[in-house]
Amino acid sequence: MDKKATVIGAGLAGCEAAWTLAKFGYKVTLAEMKPKKRSPAHSSDMFSELVCSNSFKSDKITTASGLLKEEMRIMGSLLLEVAETCRVSAGGALAVDRNLFSERVTERILSNKNISVICKEVTSIDTKRPSIIAAGPLTEGEFARALSEKTGGFLSFYDAASPVLTAESIDFDRVFFADRYDYSGKGDYLNCYFNKIEYENFQSELMSAKTVEKAEFEKDKKLYEGCVPIEMLAKRGVDTMRYGPLRPVGLVDPKTGKRPWAAVQLRKEDLNGNLYNMVGFQTNLLFGEQKRIFRMIPGLENAEFARYGVMHRNSFLHSPKVLNKNLSIVKNDNIFVAGQLTGVEGYMASAMTGMVAARNLILSDSEKTVFIPSNKTMSGALIDYITTENDSFQPMGANMGLIQPENCEFKNKEQKRLFISKTAVKKMTEYVNDYRKLI
Ligand SMILES: Cc1cc2nc3c(=O)[nH]c(=O)nc-3n(C[C@H](O)[C@H](O)[C@H](O)COP(=O)(O)OP(=O)(O)OC[C@H]3O[C@@H](n4cnc5c(N)ncnc54)[C@H](O)[C@@H]3O)c2cc1C
Repeated sequence: MDKKATVIGAGLAGCEAAWTLAKFGYKVTLAEMKPKKRSPAHSSDMFSELVCSNSFKSDKITTASGLLKEEMRIMGSLLLEVAETCRVSAGGALAVDRNLFSERVTERILSNKNISVICKEVTSIDTKRPSIIAAGPLTEGEFARALSEKTGGFLSFYDAASPVLTAESIDFDRVFFADRYDYSGKGDYLNCYFNKIEYENFQSELMSAKTVEKAEFEKDKKLYEGCVPIEMLAKRGVDTMRYGPLRPVGLVDPKTGKRPWAAVQLRKEDLNGNLYNMVGFQTNLLFGEQKRIFRMIPGLENAEFARYGVMHRNSFLHSPKVLNKNLSIVKNDNIFVAGQLTGVEGYMASAMTGMVAARNLILSDSEKTVFIPSNKTMSGALIDYITTENDSFQPMGANMGLIQPENCEFKNKEQKRLFISKTAVKKMTEYVNDYRKLI
């Protein structure tokens, strides 16, 4: 008889989960509420929509995000296979044309014979049927209440998206292409550079700019540090932005041969380079204020906004208490949770949990043991983090600090990272091979 499972949500985690289950012969029902209903951050009807940045971050294996992606490739990631087909140049990062990416993931899911997609908003949880809940950080309404009831509670914090500009509105005579520390005169990032006076005027305007729901999120301290809006950074001190997203290090203004005082970087959003994303410019400013103040950035005086920056509530479970190591719910071990809801942070970390939850659902169905990647891998270390007792639990993205190498002395940081990465790749390969023997 066919083995069956349900996946709720065709986002990044849900698509990887459905794909993995289907690969191992499961008949999967994938329930997605789009196009009938969309969250405030989703704007297309396709699956695996990238709601903000179009970058999956560094592809270098000695970085945390590069290592995570390599491990996912070893596990057979659908998203990374598709990403390769719609890559846009972004220095050492893996960035994609977001529409092509979602289109191609959707095509692959819809044409998989083991996956049936149903378009409906799920409002309850059927505990009799093995399921993976991957409804994302904007889960709300009846379904959020049902999940809260089944697990014993939700947490939430705020997350933010940067504005996107049209390329034709940028003054290319006033900006330059360069990647940090690459002095070849080429590069993928477009740099808008400030002198001291321009920068200080900009910072001063940002400090007094009008925001949406200012009182709400500023009172609420649950703001993920990596997503602090630019206007809040401006308020922390005159130089805070210059040491953060506007840092000029590794850049040289080709006209003066000197390092600029500060620089805003823009990254391509699509293959044709028609759109540019303002890197690190998450913001909660009123749209009119974004237009007025961001146009003070040299080169962006006539900028047209293809999308304004926005901020949203971001919900996650208190996973250390409510999830088992295999990502099933403590109170209902037939139900697994994946994606940002588990308290991992970021596109790829979310997608990875979809793959691991699916593998564990398959094992639990045949009453075999819990089997997760070693905590010497980035994937295993992240899962370990979110499922280990922690009273002040907050979302966690991939980072090298999560992996403790075994008894080794290193000459420098790079050597340590290389060791961690090589060990992780070896352990992930073993995990994938051992898993095949188990099922
Ligand atoms: C505003 C915002 C900006 C972000 N920006 C970034 C960024 O730039 N980079 C980054 O790495 N991460 C970012 N994140 C964090 C996170 O990585 C993404 O949200 C990621 O998409 C999470 O993947 P997911 O699969 O958990 O959820 P999602 O990709 O959101 O997928 C959830 C899916 O479930 C569907 N769904 C929800 N409820 C139901 C229901 N009841 N019934 C049926 N279907 C349902 C939704 O329509 C959606 O398709 C951002 C998050 C937010 C909220």
